[in-house]
Amino acid sequence: MHLKRLEVQGFKSFAEKIVLEFNSGITAVVGPNGSGKSNISDAIRWVLGEQSAKTLRGGKMEDVIFAGTEHRKPLGFAEVSLCFDNTDRTLPIDYSEVIVTRRVYRSGESEYKINKTNCRLKDITELFLDTGIGKDGYSIIGQGRVDEILSTKSEERRHIFEEASGIMKYKIKKQEAEKK
Ligand code: ATP
Ligand code: MG
Repeated sequence: MHLKRLEVQGFKSFAEKIVLEFNSGITAVVGPNGSGKSNISDAIRWVLGEQSAKTLRGGKMEDVIFAGTEHRKPLGFAEVSLCFDNTDRTLPIDYSEVIVTRRVYRSGESEYKINKTNCRLKDITELFLDTGIGKDGYSIIGQGRVDEILSTKSEERRHIFEEASGIMKYKIKKQEAEKK
């Protein structure tokens, strides 16, 4: 499985809709300071369900919506879609292409979609559980996270290995069953 495409519209500095295509292998994003490189990884984190405005380097969730410039009016919503090649069925859903979408309005209301069908945030979280791709997965390692992983407590480190080895799904199901 790999990330094929990212579509961003009205998210942070991306007023106009942009489409980034990723091939297999390594993609490097380069550009001057403030040009929007980190906004791309913020967009990926956000569509995977990040709920913390702070992690997204803002004060409140509304800050992810394009705020306008001297020449352009602010926008009313932000939308990001990620398209995965799922021909190997890493994601437990019977489609070769999986598109995950999130949209947020200034009211704070969020909408989530899997392959263009409305769903809950929980469905997206479950889809990526144990794949390492979720918002807390090890596929996105922010600045400073490497140090954090090395210096963190052993139980917290175990958490990372549990997600990587694929047993997190069962732990969460067990916790949910115990709650009922
Ligand atoms: P660096 O090399 O310094 O890390 P970068 O390429 O990672 O820079 P980003 O942090 O991705 O840059 O982008 C910052 C830019 O995004 C700033 O110019 C900021 O004004 C703009 N920006 C952030 N949020 C919004 C928003 N809601 N609306 C419009 N522009 C925004
Ligand atoms: Mg940056």
